[in-house]
Amino acid sequence: MTILDGKKLSQKIKSEIKKEAQELKKEGITPGLAVILVGNDPASQTYVRMKKDACNEVGIYSVVHEFPETITQKELLSTIDMINENPNIHGLLIQLPLPKHIDTTKILERVSPKKDVDGFHPYNMGRLVEGLDTFAPCTPLGVMELFKEYNIDVYGKDVCVVGASNIVGKPMWALLVNKMATVDICHIATKDLAAHTKRADIVIVGVGKPNLITADMVKEGVIVVDIGINKLPDGKLVGDVDFENVSKKASYITPVPGGVGPMTIAMLLKNTIKAAKNFKEAK
Ligand code: NAD
Repeated sequence: MTILDGKKLSQKIKSEIKKEAQELKKEGITPGLAVILVGNDPASQTYVRMKKDACNEVGIYSVVHEFPETITQKELLSTIDMINENPNIHGLLIQLPLPKHIDTTKILERVSPKKDVDGFHPYNMGRLVEGLDTFAPCTPLGVMELFKEYNIDVYGKDVCVVGASNIVGKPMWALLVNKMATVDICHIATKDLAAHTKRADIVIVGVGKPNLITADMVKEGVIVVDIGINKLPDGKLVGDVDFENVSKKASYITPVPGGVGPMTIAMLLKNTIKAAKNFKEAK
């Protein structure tokens, strides 16, 4: 069994990004990322801090716009308009979830598709489905990078994606289909989840339920990617897969933490560099 080491790969990618950021600076462009954070959800605050630290590490300028839970939709939209117009900012991400009184779709649709480094704008999502150049969402993109690094070719493979959200499962499906995998996508209404996971060569899970995938649900030699992040009452972080037992049957598996999480951040940096390069070329 081989561990798909996202921590190690993300370090390698970050050192490449650092060089690219330096090159861009020589050409007069400092890549810049803006983050909008609303409210004081501790998990969101942690994610934003990690993203900011990663930007510092590679030489990407970053700015966090923090707002109280009570911000109006109108105020948020005008902040986005302002950032869209700012030539020093090439990437903009809205940390989710947003408070209930805010229409998340409306907010995400206001981000300029050119600065949409999270790849959540429907325009970029449409381009992704069509297999065109775009900003793909960072988590599924990070999974594809892991496959590339470990020479895992998804062509013709049976892949089961568990979880069908707009930010994880659906873009994961699109990236895989574009690489000619045969993809089953399961969700809360799937009748017999094990029937799908059992026949898959690759199982990719992003649900948010500890131990959802157990050893009896996968075949011998399966490749397992665990996107889930769950905090147990004792503070321990675990994924959606029963790692201890599933890893005994798997040929490759991601750990949690140290698998997909660090790759997500590396892909955010990569998308920000891409946005800065696009900006340079359009000048
Ligand atoms: P979400 O709540 O938006 O979507 C969850 C999906 O799982 C839905 O499609 C739902 O139908 C499905 N689901 C729920 N219960 C199920 C069940 N019993 N069987 C099969 N499917 C079921 O969540 P999300 O934002 O997509 O995040 C999913 C998980 O991935 C969370 O644990 C989140 O923390 C994690 N995540 C990790 C990263 C990372 O960088 N590693 C990034 C994003 C999300």
